[in-house]
Amino acid sequence: MSTSAQIGVTGLAVMGRNLARNFARNGYSVAVHNRTPSKTRALIDEFGHEGDFIATETAADFVAALERPRRLVIMVKAGDPTDAVIQEFAPLLEPGDMIIDGGNAHFADTRRRERELREQDIHFVGTGISGGEEGALHGPSIMPGGSGQSYASLGPMLEKIAAKAADATPCVTHVGPDGAGHFVKMVHNGIEYADMQLIAEAYQLLRDVAGYSPAQIAEIFRTWNTGRLDSYLIEITAEVLSHIDAATGKPFVDVVQDQAEQKGTGRWTVQIALELGVPVSGIAEAVFARSLSGHTALREASRGLAGPTAKPLGESESAAFADQVEQALYASKIVSYTQGFHEIAAGSAEYDWNIDLGAIASIWRGGCIIRAAFLDRIRAAYDARPDLPSLLSDETFAQEIAAAQEDWRAVLVAATNQGVPTPGFAAALAYYDALRAERLPAALTQGQRDYFGAHTYRRTDREGSFHTLWGADR
Ligand code: NAP
Repeated sequence: MSTSAQIGVTGLAVMGRNLARNFARNGYSVAVHNRTPSKTRALIDEFGHEGDFIATETAADFVAALERPRRLVIMVKAGDPTDAVIQEFAPLLEPGDMIIDGGNAHFADTRRRERELREQDIHFVGTGISGGEEGALHGPSIMPGGSGQSYASLGPMLEKIAAKAADATPCVTHVGPDGAGHFVKMVHNGIEYADMQLIAEAYQLLRDVAGYSPAQIAEIFRTWNTGRLDSYLIEITAEVLSHIDAATGKPFVDVVQDQAEQKGTGRWTVQIALELGVPVSGIAEAVFARSLSGHTALREASRGLAGPTAKPLGESESAAFADQVEQALYASKIVSYTQGFHEIAAGSAEYDWNIDLGAIASIWRGGCIIRAAFLDRIRAAYDARPDLPSLLSDETFAQEIAAAQEDWRAVLVAATNQGVPTPGFAAALAYYDALRAERLPAALTQGQRDYFGAHTYRRTDREGSFHTLWGADR
């Protein structure tokens, strides 16, 4: 056992303990610490044989166990606990040491913490980590922010423990200064919400309109997973749909309450998008869909409202409809990623982060929840043209959407006529149509604003700002 550790992890719940094990399994000596010391002892008892761990009980012991400059990873509950832990450890650290926050912090908190710790010459590295507990152990996608100097010291270790994409590239990159890593993790989670909502809508259409059973839909998802929709979320959807509840013998999906919960990163993505003025309508609809599902009293009170009840198609038409749903899902997914990458580009411009969008697509190819074959293509699009104004301006994606759009519209017509809610598909198509429109009704909105508030408007034929004296000729 070493006398000094190359890295330390404090906070040994599911994420922290697995991350510590991942470092140890990759040959690093790891000091471990937890507020409640019994968890540290439990980790050593159960997994101490996996590598070179140094168990510590007090903050002072933990800090003393780390080689200099110290690399101290915090994996505690995000929010006030993170500040509490920083306050506990920062006075024990020295200039040049690094605190790596791997929790799901809000990037504004990360910016504040980075600024405060910089005064002490401590590098604060806000780091997004995606992949859940399995990812933490076997290789997550890692999104570190902070200084370039800290990445020079930490990067090689993170590259070793990160997931590897199919071409063996580690799923980690220095995202940018201060809060850039947590910002990108936040948008990752927003895209995850949108992906999940779109998959859920596809499922409901296949169930209610095509008339397939959960087991049949699982098979359809398995087939889709061999094509362009190949992704972790499609793969696990098939697993969930084919799962049978042991207690009742019914499909598992039919015994789960239909109220989706959320921890807040999707909501943050939308809140920040509103502040930056970025239209992330698909992500917003996904957050609202979860929220609506939880309003049980409202839903109960609305059950009797008039509207069609879905009537499943005949067997001969179902397969063709399923193909159309695949097109709608794929096209809507392109739009979700377009919106998410727009938000990252806007955040990068606002905070001067200089984020490489192709590199972000690259590190999401493995380890994280939204990992998908499709991300390789996004990376290629940004690598070919780093200043791509939108993913929809990439020729390949534009062609794919062009090929999908008729089916996409047909699916939405069927959904509308049959009364199946598809807010994600619909928002994506509305975004697409709004972007391609020659003229938007925003001209009328400007007229109304000028009428009631003298807010002025700009004209199509002259420079300058104009106000009409409404009603002056009445
Ligand atoms: P968690 O349930 O979010 O947090 C539990 C850990 O925080 C325990 O080690 C606990 O110590 C510690 N803690 C709480 N309050 C504290 C305080 N005031 N001072 C010191 N320690 C405190 O654990 P988790 O699920 O492993 O997640 C850790 C972080 O990773 C979170 O920020 C989470 O958002 C993020 N994350 C989680 C996932 C996931 O899939 N779970 C994925 C990505 C990121 P005690 O044992 O003493 O209570």
